Amino acid sequence: MENLDLGVLEHELRACSEDAHIDPASVVVFVVDAVRPPGTTPLAYLQPAAMVRSDTVVVIRLVGSARLDPFGLRAHRFGIWRALPGIPEVALGPMLRHELEHARRFERSGPSFFEADERLRDAVSRAGGDGYARLPSEREANASASIYAAKTLSATGRRAVADCDACAGLLTPEPPPGDVVEETLVELARLARRGELRGDGSFGVRDLDAVRRDCAAWEAAEPCDLIAGRSGPRIELVTPVSAW
Ligand SMILES: [Zn+2]
Repeated sequence: MENLDLGVLEHELRACSEDAHIDPASVVVFVVDAVRPPGTTPLAYLQPAAMVRSDTVVVIRLVGSARLDPFGLRAHRFGIWRALPGIPEVALGPMLRHELEHARRFERSGPSFFEADERLRDAVSRAGGDGYARLPSEREANASASIYAAKTLSATGRRAVADCDACAGLLTPEPPPGDVVEETLVELARLARRGELRGDGSFGVRDLDAVRRDCAAWEAAEPCDLIAGRSGPRIELVTPVSAW
């Protein structure tokens, strides 16, 4: 995709939102008007309660806090490069569906889950990043993307996605984890016991219990009510911020 067509993006977003049971009006996508540098994340999700930090992925940092913060706690926010060399256009649907599964996880489990998931991602990336695709939340998102690709793409389209290094994981045939929250907490507990979590080592079993309780309370509460646009997804083409 040398130049992402915003009409195609909107069409795919609506289809993927419906598939993920996400209200398209709660979605805002910032299209960064630049070419994706090799090795960077092509498309990323910033959950409603998150802030941009120095270790946030580049495509989100280039959107910048000034544009993202006004949608804080109001929307599922996404960033995507406008030019994605080497990534076929047919991959756009499964890529969006993957990210929307993360949004779905936010709606089901809330911000405490994402804080726990981030601790795990941080430990995996410091260990070299090889375990990234094994993270429960990634397996869940890839499983949804894979099912979506099977429903929407031809065999030729799926082959094109499979042949692209940056998106081949979207077609994993693996079933999703049975309980993403629990599997995440079990893995965190294992790393905490081995002292492999960043910080002062004070994150322990009691914290894991608190996350478990927060997630259960969130799931039992009213569905979250996020509205970014009036009727559909909001798409903004933005120039990258200079300081990042
Ligand atoms: Zn993901």
